Amino acid sequence: MKTLILNAGSSSIKYKLFEMSNEQVLAEGLVERIGEAVGKIRHIVGDKETLIEEHFADHRVGLDRVANLLVDRNLGVIKSSKEVTKVVHRVVHGGDKFVAPALLNQKVIDAIKENISLAPLHNPPNLLGIEVSLTIFKEAVQIGVFDTAFHQTMDEDAYSYALPKELVAKHKIRRYGFHGTSHSYVAKRSAEILGKDLSKCNLITLHLGNGCSAAAIQRGKSIDTSMGLTPLEGLVMGTRCGDLDPAIPFFLSKEEGISIEEVDKILNKQSGLKGLCGSNDLRDIALKCEKGDSLSRRALDIYVRRIKKYIGSYIAVIGPVDAIVFTAGVGENSAIVREMVCAKLDHLGIEIDKSLNEQKGKSARMVQTVNSKVKILVVPTNEELEMARLSEEI
Ligand code: AMP
Repeated sequence: MKTLILNAGSSSIKYKLFEMSNEQVLAEGLVERIGEAVGKIRHIVGDKETLIEEHFADHRVGLDRVANLLVDRNLGVIKSSKEVTKVVHRVVHGGDKFVAPALLNQKVIDAIKENISLAPLHNPPNLLGIEVSLTIFKEAVQIGVFDTAFHQTMDEDAYSYALPKELVAKHKIRRYGFHGTSHSYVAKRSAEILGKDLSKCNLITLHLGNGCSAAAIQRGKSIDTSMGLTPLEGLVMGTRCGDLDPAIPFFLSKEEGISIEEVDKILNKQSGLKGLCGSNDLRDIALKCEKGDSLSRRALDIYVRRIKKYIGSYIAVIGPVDAIVFTAGVGENSAIVREMVCAKLDHLGIEIDKSLNEQKGKSARMVQTVNSKVKILVVPTNEELEMARLSEEI
């Protein structure tokens, strides 16, 4: 059985084809710059990477090209696109309707459309990918996996904002949380590494990529998370500010004489690490820190302090923690961030082993000292595999 995972963005389509009998990746790639004069596909089969540059007028043309590539005599991995029996789509916002993957019938598609106001940048391209895929992979079962679903186990205490209840009800304003597929994958993987049943694990999972979020996982279920109604809340991210005094947007709008849309752009695209020091890439920032750049050092300190504050607050709500789990681009690769986050937390039973932490590796590993009560794990995330696995459950 072959399962195709699709993640459609505003001008891109990420794809990965799995043979599900052994969870082997047959092909993967990324179509970029859809709608621009010259588009690009990076198509990977095993060790072989092929770069294609041509014009993709829209998502249909882009996905059609992917379907052709998959059956191509030289670059393909299947004989006919009919071999793709399932297409699984990433959908960013499922609102409060979806606690698990869903078969994409008209009712589900309409429900995703209803959530557009909650994720105006993400749900429309996700829907476009679904629409196009339904016409190209006509015989495949089409399934939606929602970034928000894993966090639907949160209690009302955790997901509520202290706003007037009429407005909350009218606009469905609440914390939803995102990166759910990643938190779910690393939580399961952590339980395996700890040799415990997931339903007995208390974890704090830290997805630190360009977007960043933390989740408090109690007995295997998400009971709190740092992102909220939108992915803007919580940790300091690459270009997003995370937590703010809610009065700041009004203050900025008034003092700068700018529209609320402009403020929105500043908070989402020009803030976070980029706003603080000019770069949103932890590799650059770490390098500049080594060279004594004080602006970069300050940005890193602010980034790390926010993570520490979430760890402290999550320990307060979930009780004894089995493990702190680092994942995504920064979490998996940046030893300095892991070291700074765990520094001086020995009073909470968290002690990182400097030399284990500095060892590079692609596989999941433990990096705590022998005395550390809390395990510290580095677990590479695999959102596509988790989507493929979750889609087997319906
Ligand atoms: P992601 O969103 O998970 O793809 O993560 C992307 C981010 O991970 C980049 O913007 C970098 O800040 C960070 N990153 C990737 N590789 C490294 C590395 N080797 N060291 C430090 N940070 C890294």
